[in-house]
Amino acid sequence: MQLYTNLKIFHYQHKLDSLPPESERTEAPLHIRIKPTNACNHSCSYCAYRNPNLQLGQDMSIADRIPATKMKEIVDDCIDMDVKAVTFSGGGEPLCYPQLATTARTLAEGGVSIATLTNGGLLHGEVAEVFSSMGTWIRISMDGWDGPSYSRFRSVDENEFSKIMNNIENFKKLNGKCFLGISYVINRDNADHVFEMGQKLKDVGVDSIKFSGCVVSNDGHENNRYHAPVFGRIKEQTQRAKEELQSDGFEIFDAYHELDEKFDKSYQWCPYQQILPIIAADQRVYSCQDKAYNLDCGVLGSIKDVRFKDFWFNNRDKFFKINPSKDCNHHCVSNNKNMLIHDYLNANPDHLPFV
Ligand code: SF4
Repeated sequence: MQLYTNLKIFHYQHKLDSLPPESERTEAPLHIRIKPTNACNHSCSYCAYRNPNLQLGQDMSIADRIPATKMKEIVDDCIDMDVKAVTFSGGGEPLCYPQLATTARTLAEGGVSIATLTNGGLLHGEVAEVFSSMGTWIRISMDGWDGPSYSRFRSVDENEFSKIMNNIENFKKLNGKCFLGISYVINRDNADHVFEMGQKLKDVGVDSIKFSGCVVSNDGHENNRYHAPVFGRIKEQTQRAKEELQSDGFEIFDAYHELDEKFDKSYQWCPYQQILPIIAADQRVYSCQDKAYNLDCGVLGSIKDVRFKDFWFNNRDKFFKINPSKDCNHHCVSNNKNMLIHDYLNANPDHLPFV
């Protein structure tokens, strides 16, 4: 069955009905991304949060992290609101957050599905055991193909690559139910090592690899220009990996493609910010992953002095301040899903029976 599909939201009819501006009901988000800390143990050259050419992370302070008492309150609220899933992500490296194991365990015990993005460097000990036994998935972002390349990409010790490969192998040996995926981020420097890494990662037992291109600019055309000299070589390898490596229990998802040259949106309100918002390390709630740490346009509000639950259910107007046709002319991970929802909600009720 498919892991990646834009249609998951259509399993939540009640939520869909509550989305439009004219609805009088606010429902809990289905899925929240929590960014527990902006600190990181790696320093990736292409990190989108630290790239001044990208609007993502433009107002981020590396020192921010969610205080432990606030995190406990957020966790209690997520359980109480019947939030279905929480994914931990950056800003920084989620596993640098000292209370991550406790936070994840409490959520899972409260019935919330948990997942994390990570660079894998700290994936051992208690946090690995919690995610292995209680997590739905973890996804490790990678780029290098050996110790020296990893060290160059991430300004880390040359041993870091083998440490992470060991962590992956040991995580799989825990034999938990958690799905272990790799997000392999392709750039000009690792362009000739894509198939090779597919093979290496299959050999250490990962469940899936997602190949995608690094994003270097808010402008789609510039991204495509960056990838153009290596695009053909990379596509050959991702296709070969699909044909030769994919098997039962090992999936390859080829998300390496040209970006739309224009990021224009045709709709005036964004459904997905009510479905998958961000709680960031600065204790602000943001509309989405692509606007995290954008103080000029992206903040739904602060939960520093108010419980998340109270913030969410009060004042529905906050969900309609962003006008995507004006404010979101940049990459948006939810654009296709938003368009599907708008199509669904815009269907003329008199004509619905004529399926
Ligand atoms: S970037 Fe996309 S998900 Fe974010 S607010 Fe705009 S339309 Fe919504």
